[in-house]
Amino acid sequence: MITVTQALDHLFALAAPLPVETVPLTKAAGRVLARPVTARRDQPPFSASAMDGYAVPEAAAGQSFTVIGESAAGQRFDAPVGPGQAVRIFTGAPVPEGANRIVIQEDVTRDGDRITLHDDLDENPYIRPAGTDFRVGQTVNAPKRLTAQDVALLAAMNIAEVPVTRRPRVALISTGNELVMPGDTPGPDQIIASNTFGLHALLRALGAEARILPIARDTSASLIHGFSLVEDADLVITIGGASVGDHDLVAQVAEDLGMDRAFHTVAMRPGKPLMSGRLNDAMMIGLPGNPVSAMVCGHVFVAPVIRAMLGLGAAPAPRLTARLAAPLTANGPREHYMRAELSEDGITALARQDSSLLSVLGRANALLVRPVGDAARAVGETVAYLPL
Ligand code: AMP
Ligand code: MG
Repeated sequence: MITVTQALDHLFALAAPLPVETVPLTKAAGRVLARPVTARRDQPPFSASAMDGYAVPEAAAGQSFTVIGESAAGQRFDAPVGPGQAVRIFTGAPVPEGANRIVIQEDVTRDGDRITLHDDLDENPYIRPAGTDFRVGQTVNAPKRLTAQDVALLAAMNIAEVPVTRRPRVALISTGNELVMPGDTPGPDQIIASNTFGLHALLRALGAEARILPIARDTSASLIHGFSLVEDADLVITIGGASVGDHDLVAQVAEDLGMDRAFHTVAMRPGKPLMSGRLNDAMMIGLPGNPVSAMVCGHVFVAPVIRAMLGLGAAPAPRLTARLAAPLTANGPREHYMRAELSEDGITALARQDSSLLSVLGRANALLVRPVGDAARAVGETVAYLPL
């Protein structure tokens, strides 16, 4: 048995970073920026008004000005403003030469082309200097998963398309004579393939393109057929059949097909049977079939692999810490990812930890991580967890 950290090291060694492609901004959110991009202009490109009001050279309470023109967004007033003069101005409009301050319209009484400032003036100049947001050449650094905010910034920088890492293509193969697809009518001894869909959802959320292949039955021929359908996948994930039972054929079939197997069992709970290697041009991960084990391994192993493929670096799933709201008994020789509930009171491991219980996983919003051989823990102690 190897540790979770060792298993992750093996996985990262197998996970090849993917090539770069260019996408338009409307397709950029959630993608990983592959190379730094730089602003193609200053923003604002001119000194701009931050309010609706009057642009004046200087302002004092009670002072009067003659309004000599108007500067609107998209249409500047193209002449200087002199002493005693004002230009009607609107938010986003270029500040005319000679103006040093915008007096907001609420602070002004207007009578024809004359304005008089009120006594209690807002002292803010309300001018956004040219380039105050960003300047030509300013960089958005990579790698970075692009947010909606990033997309807005890139658009303002006049960057219409961006270099992003190609989405990892993942093929999911469920294995088992007992499985049918959701919506099908199961026979008396059958159950519904569930974690397949959970993993599909997880992969999509991570930015991968996931494909669910037909369920492979517990025969070599069916598994071989399953593997023949993976096409151009970067990562093939099998679910189930990874243990040492009579019907667990994945390791043998993958080996027969030429897989260079990296490991088989990991000292963790849930999820001990786990394998990985390279099969032809793809990376392969064999997950345990138990629904919770498969999902936990999805968070602990698959998610970091997808992030590595996307160029986000080889790092374990980020952990946070919380204070225990209920005590814990000592942990055994395997790292334990306990289904837990995080609330204002702290974190509590849920009562039932069997790796088949999806209803418990569904209630959990955290995986409380117990290190190998961790001692019993009391209320108030700090523990690590993975957010779900
Ligand atoms: P296995 O690893 O094939 O021995 O499967 C372990 C347990 O997980 C068995 O109870 C299987 O029925 C169940 N199982 C395997 N694959 C799936 C799946 N895709 N969805 C739900 N349960 C599964
Ligand atoms: Mg099975």
